[in-house]
Parts: sequence; structure tokens; C-alpha cells
Amino acid sequence: MSKLRFRVVESAFKKKAVEVVPPTERPSEYFAKYVFNKEKMFKYLPSKVYAQLIDAIDNGAPLDRSIANEIAAGMKKWATEMGATHYTHWFAPLTEGTAEKHDAFIEHDGKGGVMEEFSGKLLVQQEPDASSFPNGGIRNTFEARGYSAWDPSSPAFIVDDTLCIPTIFISYTGESLDYKAPLLKALRSVDKAATDVCKLFNPEVKKVVSYLGWEQEYFLIDEGLYAARPDLLLTGRTLMGHDSAKNQQLEDHYFGSIPTRVAAFMRELEIEALKLGIPVKTRHNEVAPNQFELAPIFEECNLANDHNLLIMSVMRKVSRRHGFRVLLHEKPFKGVNGSGKHNNWSLGTDTGVLLMAPGKTPEDNLRFVTFVVNTLMAVYRFNGLLKASISSATNAHRLGANEAPPAIISCFLGKQLTQVLGHIEDSTTDDLVSLSGKQGMKLDIPQIPELLIDNTDRNRTSPFAFTGNRFEFRAVGSSANCASAMIALNAAVADQLIEFKKDVDALIEKGEPKISAILDVIRRYIKICKPIHFDGNGYSDEWKEEAAKRGLDCETSVPVIFDNYLKPESIAMFENTGVMTKVELEARNEVKWETYTKKIQIEARVLGDLAMNHIVPVATEYQTNLVNNVYKMQEIFGKEKAAEMGAQNIKLIEEIASHTNFIKEHVDSMIQARKVANKIEDEREKAIAYHDTIAPSLDEIRYHIDKLELIVDNQMWTLPKYRELLFIR
Ligand code: ADP
Ligand code: MG
Repeated sequence: MSKLRFRVVESAFKKKAVEVVPPTERPSEYFAKYVFNKEKMFKYLPSKVYAQLIDAIDNGAPLDRSIANEIAAGMKKWATEMGATHYTHWFAPLTEGTAEKHDAFIEHDGKGGVMEEFSGKLLVQQEPDASSFPNGGIRNTFEARGYSAWDPSSPAFIVDDTLCIPTIFISYTGESLDYKAPLLKALRSVDKAATDVCKLFNPEVKKVVSYLGWEQEYFLIDEGLYAARPDLLLTGRTLMGHDSAKNQQLEDHYFGSIPTRVAAFMRELEIEALKLGIPVKTRHNEVAPNQFELAPIFEECNLANDHNLLIMSVMRKVSRRHGFRVLLHEKPFKGVNGSGKHNNWSLGTDTGVLLMAPGKTPEDNLRFVTFVVNTLMAVYRFNGLLKASISSATNAHRLGANEAPPAIISCFLGKQLTQVLGHIEDSTTDDLVSLSGKQGMKLDIPQIPELLIDNTDRNRTSPFAFTGNRFEFRAVGSSANCASAMIALNAAVADQLIEFKKDVDALIEKGEPKISAILDVIRRYIKICKPIHFDGNGYSDEWKEEAAKRGLDCETSVPVIFDNYLKPESIAMFENTGVMTKVELEARNEVKWETYTKKIQIEARVLGDLAMNHIVPVATEYQTNLVNNVYKMQEIFGKEKAAEMGAQNIKLIEEIASHTNFIKEHVDSMIQARKVANKIEDEREKAIAYHDTIAPSLDEIRYHIDKLELIVDNQMWTLPKYRELLFIR
């Protein structure tokens, strides 16, 4: 082992778990300690102000700016009592993660001193000097102003000494430059459309909430090993590294016992999360070595999404206290499982009904079928768009690789739900027809009795699966902002529900009874959206062929997948639901293409550098040792005998030469290809060039590096190997 590699491996081996002292209070007592939630609002705000704010939060009532000062004062009082000295507008620009700029709670007092100050104006709106956030050309440099504006529906919280105020981020001209603004619009539109449809079943329903329960997968790696891998450090994934002889074949990691250093990390992470009001509940090992998962109880979508963004940053911080680095990249290691972030999604009413769950009464079940079928229709109509919403340069390594959902969106329904839909489709009357299945499931139309949908009926290969009372969008990447997927899904479902309501109303106007009208439309939809329904093995090659025949989007090139956002039907859908305008969609695509290009560009540079200044020199040095050996053998034994005795070394010398030559040539041609691509002005064309001409060479070069790793003397190899990265903690 090279000296450096030896040192980091040894130190990682020796590390002990950090002791985590749990708070003396019970979790229910410290839960949301650092959150300005309703309880604290009640305590710190005048009662009239409190009532108005709650109305704004719960019912989306417009918030009167005149009370902003009082809210700010209450918030500041609480925050300073908690030890906060600074505040920040906390938002999610179109990069990964969140942005914040901290300001102290101080202002000049006009007498040469300072006083603590935080006005309503500062709470409600700020103008971050933000010309360097991605904006896709909406904001040119001389109109660099953007606004961040307070989102009262997600409570402010304290991290370290800073009060963080969740905000949206929009341009001077009103276009959204973040994920939150369109997400809030999508949630509003699905609320409205779903409420209208709910009223067909229950006129009491006033509001429909979209829920999100994310499951965050991640890898942990010792920070010493991490620091010795420039590729991990700079790109978030290993660009080289031969498979470890043992990785996940034995399937001994999934749900296995959690290593003590990791358990300590998880304990502290959970305490921190609970204090921030994030209701974390589940933790376990994942399939790959060093891979884990964390999941909270589901929450309202906007809040759940903020909590996911927050937990990703808390994970980064806490992992460092334990001598780890957390890897959120979708595919940090080749040959073992990648990381996703399943988005469990459902809709629920203010009357307490989960709309994707079967109920006890016939009408409940008709409502259930209505929402399920409309979701299928939305996913069918916008399958390409939904794929675009989860596509990125990093998630591309996971999708389509054979342990992850394929790069085709389809829906898994399971046996029972499939039977239910089949039954409705075939029934010609609205009379009682019963269908018995396992567990005595019966389906009568329209009097549909209790349905027991078996949610253990799972298919892990499906990118979008029905799981009992919700759909699970599994194709979302582990590093992604879930909002991207949630914007597309909620908007598409909203658009579809609007269509449905129109179709039903048209039949009712013609004199058809309500139930019969609903069933007629559903029957028609079930037939139309059949191509999206697939319960088989999504990883198989047959499915790729079949999906193409069915007309589903099978494109695998990420820059081309992004085109889905600009298809006329997508633009119409986003405009119809008021979620995004064409200008916004175009600008955001510019950002997506540019980001794609930059990611591949960075990887190509890092790989080129490492290949030429780590790999080739070490391989050449080893080759020189072999050459010396061959020469010396000749001196001692004479040419003929030495050739015989040293045959394997001569072969190795040749092998090394052939790999290093390939690497050198391909690094050179990759640089040439980058020069050509960099001249392309159009962001889409440039991203396509990077996808087509540069990304493939990364794999080709890697292949030869990994071969060298197998033959070069282990003592000389400088970079920690997979067997060290994945198994030492
Ligand atoms: P898995 O078996 O896929 O790991 P879990 O039972 O751990 O699933 O649940 C995963 C996530 O689904 C959790 O965040 C949970 O709160 C969430 N979830 C459960 N029911 C719903 C629902 N109706 N809507 C949205 N999310 C839900
Ligand atoms: Mg899941």
C-alpha cells in the first residue's frame, strides 16, 4: 500500500464510535424545539395576529402585510431567547441544496450604536444580491434583482445561531427561480381540482392536501478514505475502482445490524432532526455495503420537502462530527446499488379521508377508484415529463442500471387493484356485481363494499407503484430536490382531475345520473391509460421492447429527456394549472442543460487528471520494476532461460503498456471532444454533445484503469480501493 493509503485505511480502522449523549427529555418533549410552530406562535404573538397567521397557514388566506411587524417581533423574541443572533431567508435555487445569507439582528440606532432589530419588511421580503444563481437567462446581469418572499406555510426554524425563514425565490419580473414557488402553485392547483372532484362524493370537502413521505437513501464513508479520493471529493462519486471481490452478493447488509459508528451517527442525526420538527421514524441498512436509509412520517408536501432539504444539510453536518462523509450521489460506486429517494405520495381531504385508500362504503370506494384512475391517466399522459422531472446527470447512472427503476415510467398496481379495474372496465351495468378475490374482497358496483388492498403486494422494479394507500414514485434520485418530481406530479394530476370533472359534468348535463356518469368516464379512462400499467419485471429487456410498442417514452439521453418540458402538451398543462409559464419552462430547461454539461465536464476533467497523474505514473513505475526484473534475470540466467522464467512479467509489461496507451490516447481525445463541445453556443446542443461524445469515454477510460488496479502492485496503488471504501467504517 502507498504510505498515504496505508495511513488513511489504518486510521479509519481504528476509529471508535463517538459517544452521543441523548437529551434528558423524551422525544415528544424536545420535538420541534427549534421550530417556530403553532405552539410558539400562540405564545409569542398577539391573539389577533395569531388567528390571522393560522388562517393563512391552514386555509391559504391572504396575509395582511400590516401584521408582518408583529409577527417579526414575536419571531425575533423567540429566536433571541433561543440564542439566535442572525436570521436568513432560506430558499432552494435551481442548484442542488439550499441557499442562505445570514444577517445579524442589528441595525444602527442613530446614536452611533446598534440595536437589535428585525422588522416585518425584512421577514416578508428581501432582495438577495443574487445575480449568480442559475436563472436560465431570465435575469440578465444588469437586472440582477431577485426577491425572496416568506412562505408562512412552512415554519421558521433555528440552525446553530441563525433563524431560518423558508422563502420562495422569484425574479424581479415575477418568474420563479426556485423549486418552492412552482411547488406551492402545483399544490394549490391540485387542491382546487381535487376538491372539486371530491365534492361529487361529499359536498363538505373544502380542501385537499397533497402528502409526501420521502425515504432518503445514502452512503456513509470514513472521511479519511473520502479525502484520499479526489474523484469522490470533487464529483460525489468514484470515477474509477474495480469491484471488490465481495460486495453485496451475500445480501447480508440489507436490514442487517447497524455498525456502532453508524448507529451513533444515526442517533445524533435523529435527535437533531426531531428538534427541528422532522418526524423521523425509520432507519435501516440498505442493500449495498455502507448504504443506509432514513424515513420520516409523511407530511404535507411543501413541509415534507423543506424537511428533506433540511435533513440533507443536517446529515452533512452530523456525519462530519462522526468522522464520516455522507454521500447523497445516486451512484457513488459502480457495481453496487445506487441511492434513490422514494417519494410516497397521496392526497387527503380536510375531512380526514386519504383519497388513495379504499374505504368502507361503496361511495368511498368509487371515490378511491376515481382518484387512482385519474392518477394513472396523469402518469400515462405525462410519463415523459415525469421522467424528465427526475432526470439528471447523476440519476442517469441509477436509472436503467439493473438494480434501479428503468428509464421508462410505468405503474404497478398489484393483483387486487388490477382485478378491480378490470372488473369495472368489463361491467356494462351499474348494478350490483360482486367479485370475490383473496381475503374475500368484493367489488360491487356502485355499492362497492370494503376493499382490502394488500399493500405487501410489492414490485420493487416499478418506478411508480401503488402501495395500498398511496403511490410510490421510486425513480426520484437521492440527491434530488423532491419538489421537481412533486411539481410535475401534482400539476399533472391537477390537470387530469380538471379534465375528469369536465367529462363527468358533460354527462350529467345530458341527464345521466351522477354515479353512472362517473363510472362511464372511469371506464373510458381505464381503457385509455392501459399502456401505463405494467406489473411485470421492469428490469427485463422484454419490457423495454414492450414499452416502446405501447408508445411510452423510452428515451435514455438525459438532455433529450428534458425536451419533455417544452412539448406543447406540457406547456399547456403547466399553464392551465397556473404552475409555470412557457418563459419559466424555457429558462429552467436552459439551467438543466447547463447543469448537465457542467457535471459531465467536471467528471471528465477529474478523470483525465487522475488518469494522467495518479494511474499512469504508478502503472509505469510498476512496469519499470518488471522491466528491471527481466533485465536482471537475463544477466543471471542468460536470454533464453530468462525469457522462459520471466514470461509472465513480459506479458504484464505488455498488458500495462496497452492499458496506459489506451488511457493516454483516450484522455487526449476526450479533451479534444470537450474543446469541440465547449464551442457550441446552444445549451441543449452542448449538453447533447457532452452526453454523446464525452460521457461514454468516461466509462471506456475507467475500464482500463480498473484493469490496471488489478495488476499493479497493491503497495504502489495510491487510491483507496472499493474493498476499503465500502467495508471500513
Ligand atoms: P417502504 O416499505 O417502502 O420502505 P415505509 O412503510 O417505510 O415504506 O414507508 C415509507 C414512507 O411512506 C414513510 O415516509 C411513510 O410515512 C410514507 N407514507 C405512508 N403512508 C403514506 C401516505 N398515505 N401518503 C404519503 N406517504 C405515506
Ligand atoms: Mg418505499
